[in-house]
Amino acid sequence: MPYLHAPEDLVQLLGDEPSYRVDQLRDWLYQTPVLDAVDMTNLPTGLRESIGSTLWPFAVEVEQSADAGTTRKWLFRAPDGAAIEAVLMGYPRRATLCISSQAGCALGCTFCATGQFGFERHLEPGEIVAQVAYARAFLRQIGMPGVPGRLTNVVFMGMGEPLANYDRVREAIRRLIETMGMSARSVTVSTVGIVPGIRRLAEEPWPVNLAISLHAADDELRSRLVPINKRYPIADLETAAAAYYEKKGRRVSIEWTMMDHVNDTLEQADKLAAIARRLRGHVNLIALNPTPLSPERASSRLRIDDFAHALEDRGVNVTVRDTRGRDIDAACGQLRVVSGISR
Ligand code: SAH
Ligand code: SF4
Repeated sequence: MPYLHAPEDLVQLLGDEPSYRVDQLRDWLYQTPVLDAVDMTNLPTGLRESIGSTLWPFAVEVEQSADAGTTRKWLFRAPDGAAIEAVLMGYPRRATLCISSQAGCALGCTFCATGQFGFERHLEPGEIVAQVAYARAFLRQIGMPGVPGRLTNVVFMGMGEPLANYDRVREAIRRLIETMGMSARSVTVSTVGIVPGIRRLAEEPWPVNLAISLHAADDELRSRLVPINKRYPIADLETAAAAYYEKKGRRVSIEWTMMDHVNDTLEQADKLAAIARRLRGHVNLIALNPTPLSPERASSRLRIDDFAHALEDRGVNVTVRDTRGRDIDAACGQLRVVSGISR
């Protein structure tokens, strides 16, 4: 499984092959990925065959399409049974891949399907990078209608908490940038607010985007929705996010999942506006995707618009995000539960 080797260590996999073969294979894996080793046209047939079915470190168990072919969800299955989900969202000028950093998640946010499922294991750097390579190969070789054939953005918003799997995620980011040639600005790490992880990320050489999943603007409500808030309360999270902005010059985005009469009130808008103004952050509002086990309901369109206007009136940049892939449970927070049941 070549993606499980660091790009620099491929030579170990190829053993006796000449070094230009190693370079050729590295190009096929990271520069112009292909869905099937058969298409690695400048490699000898024997080598292509030996790579064969072990090209990807997972099997493609489910592939689903929605939004007129512009959203694709994959459920990849690692040999040990771990489920890895990724969602590709195509737009006229960009294609964004939402990737997973862990199988499951230990942090138990009440409204999140992944959290409700619990933690299974960390994903290896190669398993994270292979999701990106797979989507790249898909866009190049199959494509989506009206969408560029090139992956433009990667967001760590699938399953798992990236900063709870710091070293492996760091190594995956290094490969995306240094080997695959992605720009740091096209990569976004979304975190529930692991403060030491944010501080470490600020020390890394790459100015990746940081998104913080805030969802509540006072500690009482946030600790209820996002239990890890008891360890890293809002004030500490805000300080770490401000330091990140200062160090990297990248504005932090604030994710806010809209829950009916829970966090869509004027009182929350007021408090959120104060935080967002201090951080000069951009707020992304997204309607809750209700999960089978979550007690919360989604805010109505009207309440979302009112909340967005309240933020704007208070001088905050805000975007209401679309909910791609709802009908295939591909939207945020819905990864895993459905596939988990179907296993
Ligand atoms: N663990 C990281 C990244 C994965 S979750 C984090 O929490 O940021 C990616 C995003 O989906 C987060 O902003 C998360 O709060 C949001 N999310 C989780 N469950 C959701 C749901 N049911 N509906 C809408 N958004 C949800
Ligand atoms: Fe984990 Fe993020 Fe889901 Fe919370 S929202 S349970 S941190 S994946």
